[in-house]
Amino acid sequence: MKDTPKDLDPQQLDRRHLLHPWTHFDSFAADGALMLDRGEGCYVWDTADRRYLDAVGGLWCTNIGLGRKEMADAIADQALRLAFSNTFVDMGNTPSAKLAAKLADLAPGDLNRVHFTTGGSTAIDSAYRMVAFYHRVMGRPEKTHVIARDQSYHGATYASISIGKRPGDKVPEFAYAQDGIHHVSAPDTYRMPDGFDEAVLSDRLVAEFEAKIKEIGTDRVGAFFAEPIQASGGVVMPPDGYLKRMADVCRKHDILFIADEVVTGFGRIGHWFASEDVFDVTPDIICCAKGLSSGYQPIGAVIFSDRIYNAMQGDRWYASGYTYAGHPVACAAALKNIEIIEDEDLLHRAKRVGGYLEARLGALSDLPMVGDVRGRRLMMCVESVADKETKTPLPDHLGVGKLISNAAEAHGLLVRPIGALNVISPALVITEAEIDFMAETLEVAIQEVADDLV
Ligand code: PLP
Repeated sequence: MKDTPKDLDPQQLDRRHLLHPWTHFDSFAADGALMLDRGEGCYVWDTADRRYLDAVGGLWCTNIGLGRKEMADAIADQALRLAFSNTFVDMGNTPSAKLAAKLADLAPGDLNRVHFTTGGSTAIDSAYRMVAFYHRVMGRPEKTHVIARDQSYHGATYASISIGKRPGDKVPEFAYAQDGIHHVSAPDTYRMPDGFDEAVLSDRLVAEFEAKIKEIGTDRVGAFFAEPIQASGGVVMPPDGYLKRMADVCRKHDILFIADEVVTGFGRIGHWFASEDVFDVTPDIICCAKGLSSGYQPIGAVIFSDRIYNAMQGDRWYASGYTYAGHPVACAAALKNIEIIEDEDLLHRAKRVGGYLEARLGALSDLPMVGDVRGRRLMMCVESVADKETKTPLPDHLGVGKLISNAAEAHGLLVRPIGALNVISPALVITEAEIDFMAETLEVAIQEVADDLV
């Protein structure tokens, strides 16, 4: 046994023993972590019993809100009944079968097959493997290359982070995969080249995609990965019609369109899935996680079709999967979560309160430091800039997003900093009054930081 002091508080234990995802070592050494203790609805309390309105929704995920007794009961019941069973080869359990059937029901188009994973990254990783598998059994063994986009975030496993391309993620200390992974421009409607409008931007992006496919070789490109709205890359809003045109190019060249709906799925922008309902695209594969269980249990899913399943059956076996895939407790939680979204009509609610959030945050664009307020419904961000007219970014070293989130935190509001952005993605159960508090507090925080910077 080590001689660990017994009288340390949780924050001290955390500091001594935990490596946080994306640790910024300097600020962590100075400040440590904000230690949360409990949550209810859209609120969380820290270990000193201070209350915060959580405008981050955990991490884009607590869609039905925290502290739901029905969820705790569903999880406890399943844990007592059957806490674990694997779903390898020919083993199954009732919650995973029911959840697969439910997702098949909710998914667009012909998508009716589900492969469970442990979260979003592993869903992307699994879909990536499925691409090569599928094309090989279809007699197209060269189609192993994939195309994704700048500013995308698809997760942190080796494959999923290699597919993503968010600035700063691919630190040179890790040698990520590059072979067979290609990127095209993000569909960024905020910083368009001079003289562009959305239609011109869309034309250029589609032409760039076609050119990239040609450069790699049509017979070598197997899939295109796209978040309907790029989330952590800066809530990048695509031009009208762009995603559909990209999907049409994919169809033309037997390229699988893989929608990463890890953030956009399960109501964040008012629909079960955004691809079809918002962007008129029926993907070949959907990857989802987060809102699937509202974060009550770790779970992700790859949703695809008989078309792909039947093709893959032509091979010996599907040699991929995780111990916790189809975990009965996680699946029971996801089933109850979906039931709550349905019973409480949370998709409609997300549309209504999401519209209100858009309007309230939109008013922040009048602030001198705010360059852009963008997003859709409950997936929004506020971008601070050095110059509104020229959209000149603020220097990275200022960490303005973090300064704003620190200021907001001091006033009882949690917003997520990403560079010069502050992301807002609250639970779907947020009220108009809570949105008022959020907008007012964020305004105060931005003004405080702006005053300090002059
Ligand atoms: N895809 C997108 C769009 C995401 O935003 C994330 C996480 O934020 C992931 C994938 C990875 O999901 P996870 O962190 O559950 O592995």
